[in-house]
Amino acid sequence: MKIGFIGLGNMGAPMAANLAAAGHAVTGFDLAARPEGIAMADSAAEAARGAEVVITMLPNGQILRAVAAEVIPAMAAGAVLCDCSTVDVDSARAVAEQAEAAGLGALDAPVSGGVGGAAAGTLTFMVGGSEAAFDKVKPLFDIMGQKAVHCGAPGAGQAAKICNNMILGVTMIATCEAFALADKLGLDRQKMFDVVSTSSGYSWSMNAYCPAPGVGPKSPADNDYKPGFAAELMLKDLRLSQQAADSADADTPMGALASELYTRFVEDEDGRGRDFSAMLPRFEARGRS
Ligand code: NAD
Repeated sequence: MKIGFIGLGNMGAPMAANLAAAGHAVTGFDLAARPEGIAMADSAAEAARGAEVVITMLPNGQILRAVAAEVIPAMAAGAVLCDCSTVDVDSARAVAEQAEAAGLGALDAPVSGGVGGAAAGTLTFMVGGSEAAFDKVKPLFDIMGQKAVHCGAPGAGQAAKICNNMILGVTMIATCEAFALADKLGLDRQKMFDVVSTSSGYSWSMNAYCPAPGVGPKSPADNDYKPGFAAELMLKDLRLSQQAADSADADTPMGALASELYTRFVEDEDGRGRDFSAMLPRFEARGRS
């Protein structure tokens, strides 16, 4: 397939490389990055011209809207614009509307799995958009990832992503504060893990990504909390969840509090650049007030 790939940063570059390695004709464009092994165009429109699928992997919804306005007129009817960035639901829907009005297919297909998953081709895609557009891009999802779930209409992929990550942010905070409480109650961390990981408090945060060093499976906690999944990326997703909750009039008190705590952690408490599970040493160092 002829593919345009716009946004070749930490995630986009390995995703594009996997598509090229599978034999697809990939033309990339990025304002700054110049990854090796990908043919580069001089503009987003040029990368998109003649492509059957254009994939974008960009920092935020505002940039996505600007790039979409440039590439949609350059794309041929029937081609699909597939955005894999994590952006706000409103931007995802607005871009899909513009693309469909121009006779294109449109998908919002954010990912989970991080840079490691992008390099290994084991991402999970959560996809909103038409069945026809999903079917067309599915073979590409299969190269870049291990699972693609068609979640529904435009915006449904972003909705699934932020709901999932809101749960993740909240459960990570709950897991970390519980470890810090257990410490102060004199409960051994390994015993805490042994009980909770097999009891009703279990979660992915506890069982697969335990925030306590030396306890449970290997995780960023065992590597001095180097990310992993950086706290500022968790904060981005939590803010998107609260933006969506505002526009949909949804009551999300735990999500709001998680967003507030990660804001403090990232902006005032040296959390930036640390894994999001470094909430544990944060709680450990604090008292009740
Ligand atoms: P990144 O900052 O490494 O890459 C973004 C790239 O977009 C950069 O190379 C930048 O130069 C380029 N860019 C910005 N504006 C552009 C424009 N107008 N035209 C062309 N290129 C432009 O970010 P990343 O880590 O690759 O993340 C990309 C997206 O994936 C984000 O939405 C992020 O939330 C999401 N995501 C990231 C991870 C992760 O672990 N890094 C995990 C899941 C989802």
